[in-house]
Amino acid sequence: MIQKKRRGQLIVFSGPSGVGKSTVIAELLHERPNTYFSVSYTTRQPRVGEADGVNYNFVTNETFEAMIARGEFLEYAQYVDHYYGTSLRLINEKLDQGVDVFLDIEVQGAAKVREKCPDAVLIFIMPPSFEELSRRLHGRQTDSESVIEGRLQKAREEIQEVGNYDYLVVNDKVFDAAAQISAILTAESCRTKYNLDIMEGV
Ligand code: ADP
Ligand code: 5GP
Repeated sequence: MIQKKRRGQLIVFSGPSGVGKSTVIAELLHERPNTYFSVSYTTRQPRVGEADGVNYNFVTNETFEAMIARGEFLEYAQYVDHYYGTSLRLINEKLDQGVDVFLDIEVQGAAKVREKCPDAVLIFIMPPSFEELSRRLHGRQTDSESVIEGRLQKAREEIQEVGNYDYLVVNDKVFDAAAQISAILTAESCRTKYNLDIMEGV
């Protein structure tokens, strides 16, 4: 049996806050072997139920800015008054081990990843409607009304960037969205350019 020897793939997920990115990613991590979620750094406060080092690494402005100065981020951005960033070191380690790495990042960060890592796969998650997005943000019960308003406003801007993504997936039912993304990831892993080593064994 010929084993595929390849570097892991970098998979970027973007989409409005509350669309269900974390939920769909959790489902994919559960279903697909050799996958890893890149835990970002942020200066925002933890929400109820969020744990440091699991959902995010929660840090102060000072720490975040020191990390920027030391060049420790693959990308970072400001989103509704807070910094968010992806640490370069850990994701490179995982990719080198052949593990697929999932990033849950907003649109400016995704554009930076596209520039720096042209092979990254960019997936935009859409809500079935704005009414449903608003219902999910309220249903999560983690943000105040003014924060939710800010995020809904931001969602309208973010959706304009969908043309920069390779794939668009509507998260109506979690199971269906995860199945579509799984199909995308399987197809991406079969691209000829990642599998030329198979020829050596034939
Ligand atoms: P994001 O990570 O995009 O901010 P979350 O994964 O936190 O979004 O989901 C926001 C809320 O919507 C959560 O309460 C989650 O349980 C719910 N949710 C996620 N996907 C769906 C879906 N397909 N149908 C209904 N509710 C969903
Ligand atoms: P939230 O506060 O809802 O967890 O996240 C707000 C936004 O920040 C979401 O769109 C999420 O995808 C994005 N985000 C989370 N981590 C990162 C990161 O490391 N970099 C960038 N650019 N955006 C991030």
